[in-house]
Amino acid sequence: MAFENVKKNLEARGFAVSTFSTAAEAAAYLDRSIDGVSVGIGGSMTVREMGLHEKLAAHNEVHWHWTDGEEARVKAAHAAVYITSANGLAETGEVINIDGAGNRVAATLYGHRKVYFIIGKNKLAPTYDEALWRARNIAAPKNAQRMGKKTPCAVKGDRCYDCRSPERICRSLVVLWGPSVGGEVEIVLVDEDLGL
Ligand code: SF4
Repeated sequence: MAFENVKKNLEARGFAVSTFSTAAEAAAYLDRSIDGVSVGIGGSMTVREMGLHEKLAAHNEVHWHWTDGEEARVKAAHAAVYITSANGLAETGEVINIDGAGNRVAATLYGHRKVYFIIGKNKLAPTYDEALWRARNIAAPKNAQRMGKKTPCAVKGDRCYDCRSPERICRSLVVLWGPSVGGEVEIVLVDEDLGL
């Protein structure tokens, strides 16, 4: 596993870090760690691919707008625990997310007892600039394509065109240099490709 460097850099910034060889191992760890609490989940292909919602919902109160309808966004915002992924992670430790509705990025900044980011190895880039490039030119266009948006990037999913489309999904950019003051954030690194 090639996470030694990023783990060291994340921990130096105040993040807790756990590492796993497979998504199944990471899902089992989260299933053990999160029990009997309210859980909010952001829009995340990573979470979907891991089948995490189903696992956690068996013994937690889980709110996810992808499975429970739009009103789950509000309930997720008030949950004790919040789970999401990232669009890019720099080897130097910056965690990058772009959002449309803003619920996901807002939740990573404030309001929860603990926030977990589950990040597959495909999200990792050597520098902050390269991680930001990845978030803008790989994750966002592929997400726009997945959602069938009428944006120039969705045609081929090839790159960002910095569009002014009414259907632009990139409305905000949040970079965590570290956990917010008083916040607890754990980065769960998985040595497999996960999400977009
Ligand atoms: S800004 Fe527009 S073109 Fe660029 S990734 Fe977002 S939706 Fe696509």
